[in-house]
Amino acid sequence: MISNRTKILATVGPGCSDHSLLQEMVDLGVNAFRINLSHGDASAKREMFRLIKALRTNHGDRPSIIADLAGPKIRVTDVLPGFNIEPGQEIRISNEHPADENTIRVTSGFAFSKVNKGGKILINDGRIQMKVVDHSSPNTLLCETILGGVVANRKGVNFPGVELDLPPLTRQDETDLLLSLEEGADWLALSFVRSFADYHTLKPFFERAGKSLPVIAKIEKWEALEDLEAIVESFDAVMVARGDLGVEIPNEQVPLVQKRIIREANRRGKPVIIATQMLESMIEQPVPTRAEVSDIANAIFDGADALLVTGETAMGKYPRKVVKVLKQVILETEKTIDYWTVRPQAKEKLRVAEAISHATCEVAHDLNIPYIVTMTHSGSTARMLARYRPSARLLALTPFPEICRQLAFVWGVSPFLVRHYTKSDEIPERAKELLLSKKLLSKGDRYVITGGVPVGVPGTTNFLAVHEID
Ligand code: PGA
Ligand code: MN
Repeated sequence: MISNRTKILATVGPGCSDHSLLQEMVDLGVNAFRINLSHGDASAKREMFRLIKALRTNHGDRPSIIADLAGPKIRVTDVLPGFNIEPGQEIRISNEHPADENTIRVTSGFAFSKVNKGGKILINDGRIQMKVVDHSSPNTLLCETILGGVVANRKGVNFPGVELDLPPLTRQDETDLLLSLEEGADWLALSFVRSFADYHTLKPFFERAGKSLPVIAKIEKWEALEDLEAIVESFDAVMVARGDLGVEIPNEQVPLVQKRIIREANRRGKPVIIATQMLESMIEQPVPTRAEVSDIANAIFDGADALLVTGETAMGKYPRKVVKVLKQVILETEKTIDYWTVRPQAKEKLRVAEAISHATCEVAHDLNIPYIVTMTHSGSTARMLARYRPSARLLALTPFPEICRQLAFVWGVSPFLVRHYTKSDEIPERAKELLLSKKLLSKGDRYVITGGVPVGVPGTTNFLAVHEID
């Protein structure tokens, strides 16, 4: 019942858009689904939510949903059909002229004034490369093709190293954000985050909707790396979005940047997700490459909370096998990790809540107790415990389904729904009920319990006890 500590996240899409297939994926181990809001119209997006909401996890709840806002991604918006360009060919990149035999039209609403002559423009994840020759106008660049190929509509366009004047949220994102709140998303992800301040652009929408969601910052712009500490601090989680990141910065820097982002997130107890090309070859093939398996294992060794597959499930041929492979590699890798020896050290100055969480993990280890139970109203105790990567299993008990779902991709946390409680005296009873009903422990077994009293005040982790099932 409780197995992988590193969580499995899968993107939904045409490759897995029927109920029974998605349910199988949940049963095989998907902990949360991502809806990529870059694609489809409003009704297609709502349909994705509806499909996921119709699924059931083994706790009887629906799986957790991450609504991924497209953010200020520049795309090809108009190009002639079958547009094939050759190395050396001169092409205009414009957001004012329509497409013709020499022009590719891209997203409008910004000027190219900061793009320098000699700068690179990459299309379709870097498969097509151009060099800027001159500015024909503030909104049109004359370019020379370096790497040619077919340019199709909707493909991404990257300007590595250039600071473009784009807002953190587009009109489309605003609509998608409201749709996601209405449809019951559990997390939001924001693409192309450049600064910690991007987080604050979401606040007015949360206020207007009377509901807020935790937000994942997708790190996929070079600017984000310059503001990384502040981004990790202000967002609720981060994602190493290697697809766009590997185009925005030199590909060979991605492994080191991945380690750096994980380190910063682990240090602050913020969940960190590794995304993209984890099992790319499985879009077409039923077995992974050795390099992919090795990449998954290394992300786990680095300290990832969760692994996200994108095209592999959204449009691949073998979505079930992808989930199976992830699970197998995670379990095999985790078996070899002695979490106690690699656990992060506590900081020098801890707040009470952090010190209690740290002590909880130490007590479980010293007494060789296999389960830590936390009663949590906001999820914060569970996240703090996960930060110390205990060898004991973390069971997070909460009366709120949305908190259960928010904890779905936090490392090592198994969230459970319990009956409502208002008094601290009820806590041991609720814990015991659950441990016995799930057959995790039996009479005479001990567990460590931690949480905050009075009940319902977030962030007040202040008690720690060892209980025995009587
Ligand atoms: P995307 O994000 O799939 O929304 O582009 C992931 C990435 O860029 O790696
Ligand atoms: Mn991306």
